[in-house]
Amino acid sequence: MPLEPAVSVRDVSKVYLSGDLRVEAVRGVSLDVAPGTFLALVGPSGCGKSTLLNLIGALDRPTRGEIVVGGVSLGALDDDALTRYRRRTVGFVFQFFNLLPSLTVAENVALPMQIDGRPAAAVRERVARLLEEVGLAHRAGHRPAQLSGGEQQRVAVARALANDPPLLLGDEPTGNLDTRASQALTALFAGLARDGRRTVILATHSPEVAAAADRVVRMRDGEVVEDAAAVAR
Ligand code: ADP
Repeated sequence: MPLEPAVSVRDVSKVYLSGDLRVEAVRGVSLDVAPGTFLALVGPSGCGKSTLLNLIGALDRPTRGEIVVGGVSLGALDDDALTRYRRRTVGFVFQFFNLLPSLTVAENVALPMQIDGRPAAAVRERVARLLEEVGLAHRAGHRPAQLSGGEQQRVAVARALANDPPLLLGDEPTGNLDTRASQALTALFAGLARDGRRTVILATHSPEVAAAADRVVRMRDGEVVEDAAAVAR
């Protein structure tokens, strides 16, 4: 059963040490995200957005503090449970799509389910449904290189949703797209959060993405400096 899609970041800090250099990328951040929220994480480059996303997605561990997702503290999970968390509870979308070029669109979307050991018939059925949901059913047999950037990112979204995670994280997912593709993708993310089953958190430089979000959290120098419901909708 998937975890409840609420995120609680509790006084979290992340320090990177490289040689003599000590960078506190995230400093004492606390954040409660209600289920079904579409949240935009904004702020200048280097302010800690990616680091915070990676901590929530358990791609990295905090130096201090606690992250609770669906009532479960990530710090309490052993390696197997963390692997399950990354596979089933979170979906991740990146700026540069990260699709496997030798696989078709359908095969890329199927991969997380195959890794999770789902039966082939169920995988086929769900791939078709996901491609329908992101508007790419007609592209199932194409390779990523035959698709536009916007289409590739939709495939990446379908892949991130494969195991039906309650939490979708995106690191500059529209950063490499033209305005039209970016708008379409923003609408897709907003729609995914709307039915309340899924929480969407995107790190973004895009004012349009921020304007479409339910809530905008602004970071600077590793700290949250502003946290408000978005005005424009
Ligand atoms: P943003 O996503 O807002 O651009 P990041 O989270 O990528 O910011 O980076 C925050 C700070 O942490 C920056 O100063 C960056 O250089 C530093 N940083 C990020 N990852 C690492 C790392 N793996 N090792 C050392 N420093 C890092």
